[in-house]
Amino acid sequence: MAIPRLSIPLSYNDILAVLGERTAVPVPSFEDAFARRYGVARAVAFCRCRMAFYHLLRALDLPAGSEVLMGALHVADFVNIIRLAGFTPVIVDLEPDGFRLDQADLEHKMSPRAAVLLATHLSGYMDDMPRLAALCQARNVVLVEDCSQAFAAGLDGRRAGQFGHAAIFSMSLLKSVCTLNGGMVISQDAGLMARLRAAADAMAPAGRGALAAEAMKNFIVKTATAPLPFSLVTMPLLRATTKGGDWFSRYQKTNKTVELRDALPPAFLERFSPAQAGLGLRTLARLDAGEDKRRGNGRLLYSLIAGDHRVRLPPATTGADNGFWLFPLIVEEPERLKRFLARRGIDASRMLLSAVSREDSFRHLDFTAPQAERTRDHTLFIPCYPSLDEADIRAIAAAVAEFQQEHGPC
Ligand SMILES: *Cc1c(COP(=O)(O)O)cnc(C)c1O
Repeated sequence: MAIPRLSIPLSYNDILAVLGERTAVPVPSFEDAFARRYGVARAVAFCRCRMAFYHLLRALDLPAGSEVLMGALHVADFVNIIRLAGFTPVIVDLEPDGFRLDQADLEHKMSPRAAVLLATHLSGYMDDMPRLAALCQARNVVLVEDCSQAFAAGLDGRRAGQFGHAAIFSMSLLKSVCTLNGGMVISQDAGLMARLRAAADAMAPAGRGALAAEAMKNFIVKTATAPLPFSLVTMPLLRATTKGGDWFSRYQKTNKTVELRDALPPAFLERFSPAQAGLGLRTLARLDAGEDKRRGNGRLLYSLIAGDHRVRLPPATTGADNGFWLFPLIVEEPERLKRFLARRGIDASRMLLSAVSREDSFRHLDFTAPQAERTRDHTLFIPCYPSLDEADIRAIAAAVAEFQQEHGPC
């Protein structure tokens, strides 16, 4: 059987239940369960992670003209969100061939106007949080973690999300806690959380259409990546159409084009719904079992691949417990490895996040992040998710080793 690049965390049961309007629970029951996982008193849900960040920025009481710093590989729309919240986005480069913030570029770009640093744990790789926390404290900057890709990551016995003043999480397609669309904020700051609660309650009730459309998308992707249809239809199609680019990624991607926004679209002003809360509770209940399996697979794959020479693994923070949300390899010729793996029935994927510094719509904002651009160009994600078993992981590692033997060291 061929191995798909991804696995949809929602079950068919979940998807059918949401389509049949059978998932509704009171939103606070989900928020409270989420807060308990992180040992905080409160969590507040919004319709999207980017809107959680928008409301967080508005609720922080920052001086006018403040700068908000974020890493250069991100959902590009976060740039719009910072601007629409009334602040100036500053893009920080990432370390060479890695996913953590570049320390020198960060210190260079942290001006006296810097007010917030958004640290994003990409693919489950934890950033160096003690170091970022010390720097932020010294410069009076609010540290916020984006844990969308780090539900299972930790450092020195603490979870990702327990290091900053606040943390945000996306619960969209493929995220480990999935509510179709959705975002969450947590913080120990009671005043901040009260302001966020008021902002969330002021949102308009959500229509059903968008949620049903997203449920259908999950259904389609889930079916296209189920073992038999994937082996018989999807993988042969992908192999036959490599020249036209990766249509599967294009379908998967929510933000197909990046634009400079001058207002929030109406869909971003909707309230997180009881139907979404029900999905959140279902996925939260099985989160740890799934993520333990994912980390086990990740560690095995890591140990089998580390030490080879033609592909590299991004640098990791000492003491970090990698969440392995995705499994990135840094490769000189990622398309070549992708084709090589495809011939062996293994589907790999390129990075979907933007290199924000390279987006045409943001050109006049003068972002520079050459190292992050390189990382994006040279990253290939190989399959590593909870439903794979040890034989799959060994087959993937063997195929990568075979590629390295065939092509020799760089
Ligand atoms: C998926 C993801 C998001 C998504 O944000 P939404 O606004 O919920 O679409 C944000 N940040 C990161 C790091 C992500 O991976």
